[in-house]
Amino acid sequence: MIVYKFGGASVRDAWGIRNLAAIAGKADDDLVIVVSAFGKTTNALESILASRMSREDKYRELLESIADYHRNVIIDLKMANSETGLLFENSLSQLSAYLAGECSADYDFEYDQVVSFGEVWSTIIVSGFLNEAGVMNRWVDIRKVLVTDNRHRDANIVWEESRKRLSATFNFSRAHVYLTQGFIGGTLGGKTTTLGREGSDYTAAVLANMLDATGVYVWKDVPGLLNADPQWLKDTERLPVVSYKEAVEMTFSGAKVIHPKTIRPLHNKSIPLYVKSFLDPGAEGTIIVPDAGGAPSVPVFVKKEDQIMISILPRDFSFAISENLSRIFMILTDIGIKVNLVQASAVSINICADHEAERIGEIMKLLGEEFRVVYNDNVEMVTIRHYTPEAIEKMTLGRQVMVEQRTRKTVRFVFTRPVQS
Ligand code: ASP
Ligand code: MG
Repeated sequence: MIVYKFGGASVRDAWGIRNLAAIAGKADDDLVIVVSAFGKTTNALESILASRMSREDKYRELLESIADYHRNVIIDLKMANSETGLLFENSLSQLSAYLAGECSADYDFEYDQVVSFGEVWSTIIVSGFLNEAGVMNRWVDIRKVLVTDNRHRDANIVWEESRKRLSATFNFSRAHVYLTQGFIGGTLGGKTTTLGREGSDYTAAVLANMLDATGVYVWKDVPGLLNADPQWLKDTERLPVVSYKEAVEMTFSGAKVIHPKTIRPLHNKSIPLYVKSFLDPGAEGTIIVPDAGGAPSVPVFVKKEDQIMISILPRDFSFAISENLSRIFMILTDIGIKVNLVQASAVSINICADHEAERIGEIMKLLGEEFRVVYNDNVEMVTIRHYTPEAIEKMTLGRQVMVEQRTRKTVRFVFTRPVQS
């Protein structure tokens, strides 16, 4: 069997869903289809929750508008009077009732209960349409099958229990196509959880691992993995074959095509990952495999915006690395900071991390108790894999470099201001 994953951009309107049906209809293997929420629905649900939690009435309007968006897709697919329409309205009523009730102050828990509806709605609609289009499929509520711990908004899979439930559910004896939600799961106690933003790729990889898939296909609006984001740099090139290691390096450094967590579950079973264009399904795309038989033939450029550069200086001039590194990292891990680069001198440690405004106060408070801490939040990190002198010049010319770090295959720059192409 194989796993197909369709992200928000591929299912943002009726055209996208018809296109999905055409692609799925051509698969000649048993198939699990993992679908994300339509378009920008996850963002919209986040706004609804924020508005509800600050006790504004505006959330009702926002909910109505996201409901209408889904209703319009249902109408465009000519399913207004079908069971699918009813299933959607029922699910919508559940969310409105939930929002009208008492909500707790636990943001992460409430987030999962509310935001998960995006995937429930998209899969109800896509599954209904596929059945009408002749791609007969079973809809699976993954919240009952993919078991996670209760770390809401960033839940971890409980592997053994999930594996048992998954093989009982996706058994291919009564169907050749199953359709389910990415991004969401459920605890043993039956509470909904989410796996982190853009987590549907990860869901697809986890299902592939547990069901021993022979391949995972993520259908994107780009022709595959490119050597740079085409919205950032001109003259990008598609990388036809990429190793798992290269893909992990690229996604960790900021490449957004696939979620950084996706490779690990595939790696354990050497399952190939195909990145293909839903706009041109016949085109080759990129295949990500255990060993690509060599490095990409061109430098690969990756950018991570919204970074913060934090400098941590021991007050007593103790040696930064040998005496303080583990302590500093313990504190950063507790706060939940995602560190992307570390550079140290004798008496200072500089860290480039994802900038989350809500966490600055905590950083200053907890680290500030023991160290002198200063930060600069107007920075971005650029990574070049397989760099050449020309590639370095292209990135650095006329720009102010705060930090440069070089290994044999990778060079990283932290710049103080946004890089223009
Ligand atoms: N819908 C979720 C998000 O936008 C998950 C995903 O798209 O992978 O983050
Ligand atoms: Mg998405």
